[in-house]
Amino acid sequence: MNESIRIVCPACDATNRVPAARRGEGPRCGACKAALFQARPVALSEKRFRHHLRNSDIPLLVDFWASWCGPCRAMAPAFEAAAAQLEPRMRLVKVSTEEAASLATELAIRSIPTLALFAGGREVARQPGAMPLRGIIDWAEGAATSA
Ligand code: ZN
Repeated sequence: MNESIRIVCPACDATNRVPAARRGEGPRCGACKAALFQARPVALSEKRFRHHLRNSDIPLLVDFWASWCGPCRAMAPAFEAAAAQLEPRMRLVKVSTEEAASLATELAIRSIPTLALFAGGREVARQPGAMPLRGIIDWAEGAATSA
């Protein structure tokens, strides 16, 4: 298969086309040479989140969080570890509801932390509440399969 998928660079936001079968082979950004997958979540502003959402052919697993939220901070290491296991099947993203307040309002994020899976440019699943590593992975894989 020569089918290619669009993957947005986590470093410079360039949209890269990568053969679908080779996304697990450590692809690098054609623009800045950064690794397209770095086994860690990418913190995105509202503007960058919209860009990634519009230009990504892989699902985005988003952790909506805030610095003052204890359960968010408690879940952060598990979300970080989940990135190493869920990439390159999906991109893990952190969005601060303090910095991206209008986005959080638009999406009606009512409690944090909230995990949401976006595929094909739209939200397909949402789960409020902190989860352990295994829970994050199981939920994300289940949501991506049924998306
Ligand atoms: Zn780049």
